Amino acid sequence: MSASSPVEMSATIARTAELLRGRKIALLTGAGISTDSGIPAYRGEGSRNRTDPMTIQKYLADDDARRRYWVGGHLGWRAFARAQPNPGHLSLAAMESSGHVSGVITQNVDGLHLRAGSSHVIEVHGTMRRVLCLKCGQVFDRRDIAVQIEERNPWITIPENVALNPDGDVLPESTDGFIVPVCTVCEGMLKPDVVFFGEYVPQGRFKAAESLLRASDALIVAGSSLVVNSGVRLVERARRRSIPLIIINREPTRADVWADVTIAAGTSDVLPAIQELLE
Ligand SMILES: [Zn+2]
Repeated sequence: MSASSPVEMSATIARTAELLRGRKIALLTGAGISTDSGIPAYRGEGSRNRTDPMTIQKYLADDDARRRYWVGGHLGWRAFARAQPNPGHLSLAAMESSGHVSGVITQNVDGLHLRAGSSHVIEVHGTMRRVLCLKCGQVFDRRDIAVQIEERNPWITIPENVALNPDGDVLPESTDGFIVPVCTVCEGMLKPDVVFFGEYVPQGRFKAAESLLRASDALIVAGSSLVVNSGVRLVERARRRSIPLIIINREPTRADVWADVTIAAGTSDVLPAIQELLE
């Protein structure tokens, strides 16, 4: 069922809190939980602002695609790093401290759950904080790569206001003369530690998400339209165990038919309201 009027909405939230009371709740979050932090959604249907998403195949094979990726990533990086957790992220961290939430499985790469104070966070699509060398496996902090980019491309200026997408980059106007960063150990090719289109979620991470779900007895999907397969697979696991499934998302999702409650509203309103009732 979905709520429409404010009265219906608070009744639905009250019913949701009763369904969740005394349970260990696992969260599955997506881009919708970060839109109120200024990071627009594009993995969902909504506001995809690039017609041509970067695939892993293109990234590996095409020098120019890689240049575009790093120029865009660099231009967006500072603004992305400035984004702050919103009340949705903060209420999940608080509910973890009070023992209601067992952990968060997130499809986001923005690191906002960790910055909000959640400690059990599984970033199934990786994180923008880290950059990996594809040749020797060295791991770098994204900030150090930003310094390297500025050293190699001293002409680059970062605009004040940029139109970001959820991976924290912008579409560059030009990549002429841009020199991509490389591994400082072996000069190998670098890649941000995020799952690109055409790549699978690493198996260890998916297993960690499954075991978090097994240790929980309710699942809330918050801000994900479940367009990504790994998300749907996790919801199927919950369904097979018949644990309560709550979906909070502005748009319909592929799993609405399985949900005990669907709430078509923003996560930064609904999650704090659930927290208040549970505590
Ligand atoms: Zn290397």
